[in-house]
Amino acid sequence: MDPMQLSPSQPRRIQMHPLDNVAIVVNDGGLDAGTRFHDGLTLCERVPQGHKVALVDLPVGAEVRRYNVVIGRTVKPVPAGAWVHERLLEMPPAASLSDLRTGTPAVVDRTDDLQSNLEQATFEGYRNADGTVGTRNLLAITQTVQCVAGVARMAAERIRTELLPQFPHVDGVVCLEHGYGCGVAIDAPGAEIPIRTLRNLSLNPNFGGQVLMISLGCEKLQPDRLMPANTIPIQSETGSPSLGLITLQDEQHQGFMPMVDAVVKQAIPHLERLNARRREPVPISQLVVGVQCGGSDAFSGVTANPAVGACADLLVRAGATVMFSETTEVRDAVEQLIARAATPEVAQQIVDEMAWYDAYLQRGGVDRSANTTPGNKKGGLSNIVEKAMGSIVKSGTAPISGVLKPGDRLAPGQRGLIYAATPASDFICGTLQLAAGMNLHVFTTGRGTPYGLAEVPVIKVGTRTELAKRWHDLIDLNAGRIADGELSVQEAGMELLQMMIDVASGRSRTWAEHWKLHNSLVLFNPAPVT
Ligand code: CA
Repeated sequence: MDPMQLSPSQPRRIQMHPLDNVAIVVNDGGLDAGTRFHDGLTLCERVPQGHKVALVDLPVGAEVRRYNVVIGRTVKPVPAGAWVHERLLEMPPAASLSDLRTGTPAVVDRTDDLQSNLEQATFEGYRNADGTVGTRNLLAITQTVQCVAGVARMAAERIRTELLPQFPHVDGVVCLEHGYGCGVAIDAPGAEIPIRTLRNLSLNPNFGGQVLMISLGCEKLQPDRLMPANTIPIQSETGSPSLGLITLQDEQHQGFMPMVDAVVKQAIPHLERLNARRREPVPISQLVVGVQCGGSDAFSGVTANPAVGACADLLVRAGATVMFSETTEVRDAVEQLIARAATPEVAQQIVDEMAWYDAYLQRGGVDRSANTTPGNKKGGLSNIVEKAMGSIVKSGTAPISGVLKPGDRLAPGQRGLIYAATPASDFICGTLQLAAGMNLHVFTTGRGTPYGLAEVPVIKVGTRTELAKRWHDLIDLNAGRIADGELSVQEAGMELLQMMIDVASGRSRTWAEHWKLHNSLVLFNPAPVT
């Protein structure tokens, strides 16, 4: 019998796979010792919500399976009905990256009504000259170095108050502030990652191909290194580059206010060009959705991530682009990823990115087990293997058609499900997905985080109804209804897709946009600082 069909007051548990020997407790607040489930299983101790209960007696050294994957071995005997927490589990070693077998990706039936509905679905977006589409119309201020950040912030505030009222079709001004640009080993291996990230951030589809750049003058990351001439978008009207450059050390600036004035003045032609843009219907294949999770719990892999995965499958069928990332959170699922690689080349690229990251972590004296947080464990996730199995579900079931290195941008016309290799850190992952060309972000959370970005709308999906109710003005979609038995995973995926279309079109705003919750851009710099 399906435990999800039981009423909310009855003891409920969710077993992800028939071969699993643990299930997680669904009820708010957990379940007390002596609680008897419908099939007679009785708890021999209290089990918190989201934590695992043993379904059978587990001897010492028994494989504990969730998602039909071994998430650990027991270090002492665990009776049926006992709480299986992280202190009872020894984590398995990471899967080897050699001799992985590629599979045959599933063939999707593309002839049904759903397929034609997906292909005909549109959203209202801003077309760019390079073929990308924006979901917002923003003036971005590119910065070569952190030294100019204060000037940029003050100029942005003046642009907002003095100029934006005259340009009603521009949605806002964002400062692409960062800590890089000088005091770094700019030619070291690895330095290309932050540099290309900054370059590609400026080219995000939401900025309309307009580059307004502030440089200090003496910094290592000079403007033409940040954006070589051939990377600057060309204005379709004039054929000249859409670059406005202000250098603060330029002798024409007599003191501070003239610097700020120069930025504000230079912003005007950029705002004029942005203000001329209008939304128009475009196919949803123009959506570039970055998915990630943060503050995960044991429900992440049961409710929110499967809903996002179902939505990802719909988007990929529609011809859109979905990026999943967070290398340490998918490393333990490498076998499943390789089996879904569309070509042997994609499989090799996945392995190469994971091997690079393994070596990066090793240089720092850690491994993937450094990923899980105290909150993850409190939420029922015993270790990174269990977290990874729940994380990977966000990618859905489509073949993986491409891989991006950290900071890389999607190639023109590159579509489908993409593994964009990034750290799992919420801010670094979000920054790298922005650089890749994301125009919509979906973020799942179980413990709860008020995450948001200034550059793209962020749709937050909560894993539990209790969180969605408590954070009613922060969580955009409550996937906890799946565990409550109110909604199927497929229905939640469809609901999320509709929400994406409304948000991308500017018809509705996410809670993070409403409150202007904007986390910092954070660069991934594996190279030395000086
Ligand atoms: Ca994350």
